[in-house]
Amino acid sequence: MNHNSDEQTLRNAGVRVTAVRLMVWREIGRTFSGPFSLADLEDALPTVDKSTLFRTLTLLNEAHLLHDIDDGSGTHKYCICHHEDTRLCSGHVHLSCRICHKTWCLSDVRIPPVTLPEGFLPEETEYLVKGICPDCRNRDQ
Ligand SMILES: [Zn+2]
Ligand SMILES: [Zn+2]
Repeated sequence: MNHNSDEQTLRNAGVRVTAVRLMVWREIGRTFSGPFSLADLEDALPTVDKSTLFRTLTLLNEAHLLHDIDDGSGTHKYCICHHEDTRLCSGHVHLSCRICHKTWCLSDVRIPPVTLPEGFLPEETEYLVKGICPDCRNRDQ
């Protein structure tokens, strides 16, 4: 990915590009292949203050460049949306390992349709499969 395309990605999502936003966005793309937390991002960018990182994550989330994941751990995680159409980014299944507390996006596995009671307006849906990841299973044996 070249520099121009990072800037373009932000602009296309309606984000006003600043040096910090661009730096954070690039760092996320470079460092994380899957979901990460604010603390992970702080470790990756120790020179940027925490509230700036949090605001930037919130902004990127609202622009649908990231999505947030509530994996039940009490720590919010974020993941880059890899779909061309970012609306497709929400509504997929996540996995969470109860031993190492890692989270994975199954971005191609859609949440199955659920029939809701009449009159209920859904706003967001989480579909989280909790279990033990292959690494942790191998370690336990
Ligand atoms: Zn694990
Ligand atoms: Zn995801």
